[in-house]
Amino acid sequence: MLKLDHIRNFSIIAHIDHGKSTLSDRMLELTHTIEKRKMREQVLDSMELERERGITIKMQPVRMAYNVGGDEYLLNLIDTPGHIDFSYEVSRAIRAVEGAILLVDATKGVQAQTLSVLSMARESGLTILPVINKIDLPAANVDAVKDDLVKILECPREDIIEVSGKTGEGVEKLMEEIVKKLPSPKVLDDEIVENDSCSLVFDFEYSTHKGIIVYIRVLGGTIKKGENLMFRGLSQKFVALEIGTFSPEKKVADQLTSGEIGYIVTGIKETSRATVGDTITGPFSKLPPLSGYMQPKPVVWASIYPEDQNTFPILRQALERLRLADSSLAFEEELSGPLGRGFKCGFLGMLHLEIITERLRREYNLSLIVAIPTVSFEVELLGGKKETIYSASQFPDDSNIKIVYEPWVSADIIMPSRYLGDVTQLLHVHEAEVLDIQTFGDRNVVKILMPLRELMRNFFDELKSISSGFASLSYKLEGMKKADVTRLDILIADERIPELSKIIPRRRVDHESNEMVDRLKANLPRQMFDFKIQAKSQGRIVASRAMAGMKKDVTDYLYGGDITRKMKLREKQKKGKKRMKKTGKVNITQDLFLKIMKSDQRN
Ligand code: GDP
Ligand code: MG
Repeated sequence: MLKLDHIRNFSIIAHIDHGKSTLSDRMLELTHTIEKRKMREQVLDSMELERERGITIKMQPVRMAYNVGGDEYLLNLIDTPGHIDFSYEVSRAIRAVEGAILLVDATKGVQAQTLSVLSMARESGLTILPVINKIDLPAANVDAVKDDLVKILECPREDIIEVSGKTGEGVEKLMEEIVKKLPSPKVLDDEIVENDSCSLVFDFEYSTHKGIIVYIRVLGGTIKKGENLMFRGLSQKFVALEIGTFSPEKKVADQLTSGEIGYIVTGIKETSRATVGDTITGPFSKLPPLSGYMQPKPVVWASIYPEDQNTFPILRQALERLRLADSSLAFEEELSGPLGRGFKCGFLGMLHLEIITERLRREYNLSLIVAIPTVSFEVELLGGKKETIYSASQFPDDSNIKIVYEPWVSADIIMPSRYLGDVTQLLHVHEAEVLDIQTFGDRNVVKILMPLRELMRNFFDELKSISSGFASLSYKLEGMKKADVTRLDILIADERIPELSKIIPRRRVDHESNEMVDRLKANLPRQMFDFKIQAKSQGRIVASRAMAGMKKDVTDYLYGGDITRKMKLREKQKKGKKRMKKTGKVNITQDLFLKIMKSDQRN
């Protein structure tokens, strides 16, 4: 039986690329958790997409055994993603542990995201272990980074541990500090739990054979295989078909006790209602359920359609399964003329959108069309009615609108001081309000407010590019502010194409209109007749391009010759023209949407 004071549960938090996954590798080696021959770099990033991109998307728990002074300790590590769009993953992992290693790259120093995850960890009352990584690199600036950490954490300088995830230097010392400095698991008293058990669900997985698998942190009591249990939020009973721990592959165990991290196979196949943050207890429990997780609100919306309409049910099932572990993903059914049945989906940001659609493509073999993303707007109509709009084509006409609100974010940007001028200019272009500029060694921290709509307009890439990659950004949603925006429609052959509508700031109407019609003109195939491509906003045509029809008589190309051949061709042409008259419009194919939407991602 495990003694509580021999268990440590912790997470590694850091800005993206500061070396979380690599440091985890060294810990796994040192504790012989993974056999040498099975070891590979960033082994906890098991998803194909994670390995390709070199980023962590899903949290991954792993259990290690480590000997200190003749005593064996059980260490549960949860590796978490570093990118802002996945901070929901981090927030969930944090609730399952007592400590966090705050890892900072010695060559980059404290970054924007370091600060935001740190404040998250502090709010949850975690014990923080400051660690400087990549000390093997010649460019490592250990002293300066220590200065910053002492300032931010108000900790003694000697407490800061130096490691290299690459060479393994200092990692042993770090393991000992984890045992020494981090508290053992906080659990419920035995008297309170009695013969019951209580666990927090911090993640899900779906297996086609086994159904829902929950990742849990046991907070009190013992869970045994075969036991009857219940999701308290769902009020759904189930049997623990299998339980176990992470090594990091699932390893079957007989029981999980108070303080431990592990998994339960539930056999439940119905996925639509389960949520992370739920509490698992016995079926007749008198224990109060734990407070759940804060439900994050999606802020970026985009329609997703399956290219092959027959795969629509697969898309629905796939979204339901992904939402199990990721309740920040929202979706509702939607119907489009040219694109068919699809879903309006909500995301936490652009990377979240990109990763989810990529996972749908890979893990579920779906071919998808992803429409132009938009933020959601609160619109108050003249009659006083209020509406939430997250589809550009449904944005009301200006003449009906009293006032519009849009989401704003607050953001911290950290960069070397020499880029301050260029960054300030970029901020101006993106409608940002600068609240404060602090100096931080030879760097500046700029605190700003900005419309989310502008953040999505490629702001991050532009920031990286003007600062040669040195600026880092973290942001969080602040609330709604008044917006000066309007709807831009696209008409092709006098017909509005709702899938191409956009909500844009009034000041950009001319620019965007011309850009859209030019792009369409370059991509649309010519037809048998003349037609116009137009951009319309606030009741007027802002930009227009003419497309000339193809040559009227196909037989003009033939010299003299075979009259029957001419006849045949004329006959064919007549039929063609008749067919076109019948539909009376330019056929906007899926392919075309794909082309137009792809080239729009840059804007
Ligand atoms: P994560 O995003 O925080 O998980 O970072 P990774 O572990 O994926 O590491 C990011 C990059 O830094 C990879 O190319 C690693 O090889 C490299 N890296 C990580 N730790 C060290 C280190 O201690 N020294 C050096 N030189 N490179 C490192
Ligand atoms: Mg990683």
